[in-house]
Amino acid sequence: MNQKIHFKDKRLHPIWQKVYSGDRLSSNDGRVLFQTNDIISLGKMAHFVQKSRSGDSVYFVLNQKIEPTNICVLSCKFCNFSVRKGDINAYEMSIDEMLGKLTPEIHEVHMTGGLHPDWKWDYYLRIIRDIKNKFPDLDIKAFTAVEIDYFHKKFKMPVGKILQQLKDAGLRTMPGGGAEVFSERVRRELFQQKIDSKTWLDIHRTAHKLGIASNATILYGHIETIDERLEHLIKLRNLQDETGGFFSFIPLAFQPGNTGIKPRERFTSAIDDLKMIAVSRLMLDNFPHIKAYWVMLTEEVASIALNFGADDIDGTVGGERIAHDAGASSSSSLAKEQIIKIIRDAGKIPVERDVFYNPINIYSDNVIGKIPYLNSVPFYENIERRQFRILPVTPRRMGVLSRQKQLDAGLFSLVDFFKQSDELEALDFCIATRDQVRSVLLFSNHGWNDLEGKTIGIVDDTATSVKLLEVLLKKKYGIKARLCRLNSSVNDYSNYDAVLLIGDEALHSRKFGAAGFEIVYDLASEWYLWKKLPFVFAIWAVKKTMQDDKKQELKNIINESLSRAEGNYSSVGKLHAKRINLTKEESAEYLAGFNFRVGAREKAAIAEFHELLVEIDKLECV
Ligand code: SF4
Repeated sequence: MNQKIHFKDKRLHPIWQKVYSGDRLSSNDGRVLFQTNDIISLGKMAHFVQKSRSGDSVYFVLNQKIEPTNICVLSCKFCNFSVRKGDINAYEMSIDEMLGKLTPEIHEVHMTGGLHPDWKWDYYLRIIRDIKNKFPDLDIKAFTAVEIDYFHKKFKMPVGKILQQLKDAGLRTMPGGGAEVFSERVRRELFQQKIDSKTWLDIHRTAHKLGIASNATILYGHIETIDERLEHLIKLRNLQDETGGFFSFIPLAFQPGNTGIKPRERFTSAIDDLKMIAVSRLMLDNFPHIKAYWVMLTEEVASIALNFGADDIDGTVGGERIAHDAGASSSSSLAKEQIIKIIRDAGKIPVERDVFYNPINIYSDNVIGKIPYLNSVPFYENIERRQFRILPVTPRRMGVLSRQKQLDAGLFSLVDFFKQSDELEALDFCIATRDQVRSVLLFSNHGWNDLEGKTIGIVDDTATSVKLLEVLLKKKYGIKARLCRLNSSVNDYSNYDAVLLIGDEALHSRKFGAAGFEIVYDLASEWYLWKKLPFVFAIWAVKKTMQDDKKQELKNIINESLSRAEGNYSSVGKLHAKRINLTKEESAEYLAGFNFRVGAREKAAIAEFHELLVEIDKLECV
């Protein structure tokens, strides 16, 4: 992606150099970003980072908020929601009432509420279990760190045990609320009974280690200073470096309401809201997503935020009370059509997602799937500026979306191309190895011949690599092993004799090691030593129904992009490489190991692999 920004505020120029090169921003940089009046340039910088991560996608989820009770033992100064037991406005929901709020169409329930003085531990577990039993496909995001800390103290159980029991009951992720601002000064003034930053961060660290991903928030626009906002962002960035367990960051604009902290009418300005979103995107270089929470921002500001660094707008949010009790002026829920319109008005692709950001439905034409790994970057440098819109999606998921006719073109996993050859037409571009691949790796504690009867964990993203592994096991080595998909939220491989990792995760593990494994097999090398052929992992294809002129345009821009990338690999992908801790040189060497055009040897390799797949009669997914 090439982008020129004409800065009015010259102090932004050196910061842009860093952003463009993928270098990390300092507190001083963050201070300048908050101070600047060059708001358009700030937005462009954040949008550049947003596009490099999420293409043109903006995610939303069909969700329902449940606040089981407003009775709370604390009385935080900024909270307009909580009441004491016996208060005329107090309410407590039964589990049946909670279940009554849910329908099979929604994908996520978001549950947070007051700290009830009397509810038993078993009641919380029953809430999760009963929801899971009645709606097995629904993802449950529940309990902030403040609630987890309350359970830990009230029920006298370690935080790890609390979280493990909730996870066993069906909890998938945790919301990011309760962080407020990581400043002791603010805490003492506004919420001194509430947990401090260390406790909040420790609870999320524990959750991440147990495979419970979470979000993070900041509550801004009350008495906090710019430096306190920055301190908050940097603490989160440090924890994300350590665990990688945060999905998204959500700046929450303070709603003064009747809190008395600020006059009712002194809500945050749209400029402050947009700055907060943009600076978050720029400072939190290791967070996959930044959310524009429309409930607090209003629909209008949220829509602009989608070009200021935010790639998620939350969801339909039925049943929200906390922000509205504090005076939020937005609607209390939005219909799916309204969300889609907000996203389209921002010039983006509305992508309905699940809790792990897997695309479920796409509401746009001319969408091209992009494998979100370093080795696909050379294809996409030019495409963004044309009529096509880019949706980053894992190889396996891309196959699913294509089968559902939700994609017009993409770099398809070879196995998915085989399966859909009636509907897809191949272009002359591919991801093929010369000999080794470096990013499709079997980490093992056993030599090939000792894998008989063993259990191999398979990363959830793969469609072709898992088939290559099967072919190698069955046809090259004559081995039968048990292949099991890994849970996408857990990096615990202790139950496996070997694991197959692909893409950036494999590159990272190759450099830094995958815990517990001594041997690393490169599957493309195994293939090359056996067949003396390259291996084709993915191939560009378009829908056969695509008009010829559009097809030709796509071919031209892929060709243009590749021609520019070839021989320039130390520059192409440097931003992406930094994100996965590869040096410029490592990235260049890696990309130079591929052939991106289909030639005679690639065609022979495709035919050979297809024949072997037919032989083992395994075109169905594991
Ligand atoms: S912010 Fe949360 S913990 Fe504090 S009073 Fe309100 S409901 Fe209770």
